[in-house]
Amino acid sequence: MEIKKEAQVGENGAPTPAQLEAINAQARSALTADQVYVFALRLCDDQIDRDYERFDTQALPELARLFLGKTGIVDHRWSSEAQVARIFATQVVREADTSYIKAWAYIRRGDQTREIIADIEAGIKKEVSVGCAMGRRVCSVCGGEYGSCGHQKGERYDGQVCCVILKEPMDAYEFSFVAVPAQCEAGVLKGMGTGRRSLKALAEEFGAQAEYRALFSMAQLGKQYQKELEDSVVRLCLTLELGAEEPVLRGIVSRAAPEDLQKLKTALEARAAEMLPPTTQLPGKSGKSAVVESGYLI
Ligand SMILES: [Zn+2]
Repeated sequence: MEIKKEAQVGENGAPTPAQLEAINAQARSALTADQVYVFALRLCDDQIDRDYERFDTQALPELARLFLGKTGIVDHRWSSEAQVARIFATQVVREADTSYIKAWAYIRRGDQTREIIADIEAGIKKEVSVGCAMGRRVCSVCGGEYGSCGHQKGERYDGQVCCVILKEPMDAYEFSFVAVPAQCEAGVLKGMGTGRRSLKALAEEFGAQAEYRALFSMAQLGKQYQKELEDSVVRLCLTLELGAEEPVLRGIVSRAAPEDLQKLKTALEARAAEMLPPTTQLPGKSGKSAVVESGYLI
């Protein structure tokens, strides 16, 4: 899934000789020190952000590698070449209890970029929006795939606040400067934080509320169906006396995909039909059987 986060611009100025070498490894034509402007970015860290999500610490080195060479849109008004900042170096920095990806980017100096460089210098252009694709979202409470485990990020479970751990980096995208960071509390500019907006807010902004509401009610129906499926499977397991207790069964089914649950339910129903034939409940008492009401097995 695609992840979009805010990041922050750090120290800046002329490149060191080593930086210039790294820049020229990325640039199309050889550049001199006075042709480029260098600035540092804090791209993402492993701390829980305001969306109750965090990047897995182990994922940062690979993510840092993926950001190398990625470009940044400096200003949408400008045409291709000059509008681009490019990341030429990344590094995972470890501080006391935080790891973060630090990136260095350069902009070619020129008439078209004078303004943006001045803005960065003045601290006006402070935040960029960065995007990446992560392969997995894992629940911090149970270690299951978030979204199918039943835990809700931001909620407390036995004193532990649930958050989503973003794992398995797949790709990193361009970054862009954000003039007014979305949903940013005034004065609070952490390295990471806002940026991701809710679908509901987007629907409101683009006049798609009706579509959003329709999708929402369908999702509610889906949830209801999933719940019923889970209940049926748990009930069947208990009826068949498989030995596992209800809380264990609930935990298992809450992590299973609906398609798998449906197959399991069918299999369990078939087994239940074999083991608990509706013909007799008290064998030996009489040759005749008591007919069990339909619905007993379900
Ligand atoms: Zn969970």
